Amino acid sequence: MKRSRLIYALLVLSVFGLLAIGIFRAQHGGELYTYSRILMGTVVEITFREDASEAASAAFDEIARLEAIFTTYRKDSELSRINAAAPEPVRVSPEVAEAVELAIRVCELTDGAFDPTVGPLVRLWNFSEGGRVPRKEELEQALAFVGCHNIRLDKDAMTVALSRKGVSLDLGGIAKGYIVDKALEVLKERGIEWAIINAGGDVTFYSVDPSERFRVGIRHPDRADGLLGTILVGSGSVATSGDYERYFIKDGVRYHHILDPRTGMPARGLRSVTVVSKEAYLADALATAIFVMGKDKGLELAEKMEGVDALVVDEAGGVYTTSGLEGVFEPFEN
Ligand code: ADP
Ligand code: MG
Repeated sequence: MKRSRLIYALLVLSVFGLLAIGIFRAQHGGELYTYSRILMGTVVEITFREDASEAASAAFDEIARLEAIFTTYRKDSELSRINAAAPEPVRVSPEVAEAVELAIRVCELTDGAFDPTVGPLVRLWNFSEGGRVPRKEELEQALAFVGCHNIRLDKDAMTVALSRKGVSLDLGGIAKGYIVDKALEVLKERGIEWAIINAGGDVTFYSVDPSERFRVGIRHPDRADGLLGTILVGSGSVATSGDYERYFIKDGVRYHHILDPRTGMPARGLRSVTVVSKEAYLADALATAIFVMGKDKGLELAEKMEGVDALVVDEAGGVYTTSGLEGVFEPFEN
């Protein structure tokens, strides 16, 4: 029974190819209704137990609205305006103020492994246009502008200022999760009692029934259509950061988009990190942070955080989890 569902999930994965995680319900259920839209540079799918096209549209519209605010690909987005105005403060929407506050909190919590001021480094590596290896001096120059102490959030004035010209915010490691949290709020406001939001492999589940569990497939770091295994989770989010998501290979070396803010180089040691958390923003940001922190420090942090679990795959292919996932993670032979 479980096996056939796994095979089904694999089939779905190989058919669509895009999804890092296949979703399927642990318990047998009735018919499911899935809606999808291309947003945030990926395919966002929302699944319901009933025909809920209006709720789906409202959630997709909310994602599109927030994407336009947070993107750094457009010069007129709020984030781009903050970056361009540095060191002057810029008035921001409540969502940008909140996301910046959460990003600063995760930065502090992870000792800067997650750092929303990686903007100058991200620009140097230029992954979005194929990527290139920056020179050492370029990296050193960019690193001088990195650090979350450079962000000034004034919640009374509702402004964000960066300490000096050249400092640049990039919320790419947290915005997707934050936006999914907001989309789920829209669904709840509309009375939805059960939904799955899959944003390119980062999956959020919601059920009014607190006892309900979902089985989530975790992508194999080397096989786009293969699963490493599955975990069983309750309402909440599962996010994965991997070195296979965005990368280029030069002289046999893989350079990927999760950067170590201390060196400016792609973080080494792990292949992928999956984080389980009640909130999508936290799962998203912690997956990035733990990737940078490495196996021991990363798992230690997840272990001590209430409601957070993590699973890491190291370069040797070893799988390690926090105690909350022991016996919950089921490896899958494929
Ligand atoms: P994806 O969006 O593909 O799921 P992640 O959630 O891991 O990937 O986020 C990676 C993105 O986060 C990068 O493209 C970059 O914009 C940003 N980023 C890279 N390194 C860091 C870091 N150390 N801290 C915060 N953000 C980062
Ligand atoms: Mg992430």
